[in-house]
Amino acid sequence: MNSEIVQTKWETVIGLEVHVQLSTKSKIFSSASTDFGAEPNTQACIIDLGLPGVLPTLNKEALRMAIAFGLATHSNIALVTQFARKNYFYPDLPKSYQISQLDKPIVYGGYIDILVNDVKKKIGITRAHLEEDAGKSIHDRYFDASAIDLNRAGTALLEVVSEPDLRSANEAVAYLQSINTLIRYLSISDGNMAEGSMRCDANVSIRPMGSKEFGIRTEVKNVNSFKFVEKAINFEVERQISILESGGSVEQETRLYDSVKNETRPMRSKEDAIDYRYFPDPDLPPFIIHKEQIEQIRDTMPELPEQKLVKFEKMGLSKQDSYQIAQDRNLAEYFEKVVEIGRDTKLAFSWVAVELLGWLNKNNSSIETSAIVPEHIGALVLRITEGTISGKIAKTIFSILSEDTTKNVDEIIEEKGLKQMSDSAEVENIVVDVIKNNSKQLEDYKTAEENKKPRIFGFFVGQVMKATQGKANPSQVNKILRKYLDI
Ligand code: ADP
Ligand code: MG
Repeated sequence: MNSEIVQTKWETVIGLEVHVQLSTKSKIFSSASTDFGAEPNTQACIIDLGLPGVLPTLNKEALRMAIAFGLATHSNIALVTQFARKNYFYPDLPKSYQISQLDKPIVYGGYIDILVNDVKKKIGITRAHLEEDAGKSIHDRYFDASAIDLNRAGTALLEVVSEPDLRSANEAVAYLQSINTLIRYLSISDGNMAEGSMRCDANVSIRPMGSKEFGIRTEVKNVNSFKFVEKAINFEVERQISILESGGSVEQETRLYDSVKNETRPMRSKEDAIDYRYFPDPDLPPFIIHKEQIEQIRDTMPELPEQKLVKFEKMGLSKQDSYQIAQDRNLAEYFEKVVEIGRDTKLAFSWVAVELLGWLNKNNSSIETSAIVPEHIGALVLRITEGTISGKIAKTIFSILSEDTTKNVDEIIEEKGLKQMSDSAEVENIVVDVIKNNSKQLEDYKTAEENKKPRIFGFFVGQVMKATQGKANPSQVNKILRKYLDI
């Protein structure tokens, strides 16, 4: 199949359902702990198990987190929100219903920005509702039996449903990235996809290019990494195209992504809301949300990625560079401190995004645990900007810091005598010496054709820098050399 032809013929339509595990200390409807790694089945209480006679109470923190998410995505916050029972049996849900929301979700009608190929696009958020998680089936613990661990039962989830606004696997990945960035900024989830704190189902359909109607979709479950989302969607798109192009029709169904075989396969025919026999949970009357409560939450929100992006672009960074820094709250805050001290935004960017991140990557370290702190990089940037040290010397200092951070930048400059030579008479003496010691090159320079001159000029600059151990200011060296060579 020629993908170039396919791309102009078919348009991909994707809507994502993302489950975000909220980082509340206790469960959404009980006081049982959500600590990770406890002995199996020690952290599900009688409420999580739905035993007769117990009553759930809503965790206020979970509600607050959902509202914060809603505000950050320009959504409406329901002034009356309601929980419903979604009925189904599964071994990891022995009480046979999940408390979720159907008609009156806490959050609805918002959007989030994504950036793909330098172009910003708004992706609609249909709704985000609160619900409880189920337990976990474990199939690889016993040889001849499956195990059930109910510790996770009742953990607070926020299910975020997007509009079918995404048009490619790349856009889907960018959307997930934006959601991930946002929930970590808001500190409502650790956002760790590998550990299941963010899980994704992808709804995928195709339609003839230019068509207004949506095609029949499939829902692909279990796409739990950025890479798998991309692969699963691409697989599904190819599969649907080949069905339609051979005259068949796509069946509306739920499919499972197998990351080992890189394929999706049928799991069950698509169920509708009616199959779950949803009804309002009689134990949880509708919740009234007060406007003041919403405003209080708004007041405590940090500066968000969107605002950081605007700020960084205003400071002079490109869209792409701003995005790279704004994507991670700790990185953004680190960068802001560097700029505050070092003042030069672009220089600060290259020191943080290239030198620092490169070094952290190489050492499997992270911005949170970095021994080199913003004060170090800020001081380096400042001293370069002021002309106290050259960029090259700054790299030397950086490598000293990477071994040992007990001394600060100024102490290292002082101690190792790394200060740039500011005395122009001193530099001039060295220039004169260098010219004297290289009379052949001087002769070559004088007789060379114009286009050959820069190379020889560069040779002299190099000799002077060498003679000063890199401490001369290159632009000063250039100026003085011109005076002697270009007469
Ligand atoms: P359900 O509860 O049955 O899964 P929803 O109608 O709430 O269904 O839709 C779930 C997701 O499917 C949403 O993210 C929505 O954007 C997406 N979606 C709906 N129709 C299509 C379609 N034709 N192609 C791709 N995605 C779709
Ligand atoms: Mg669904």
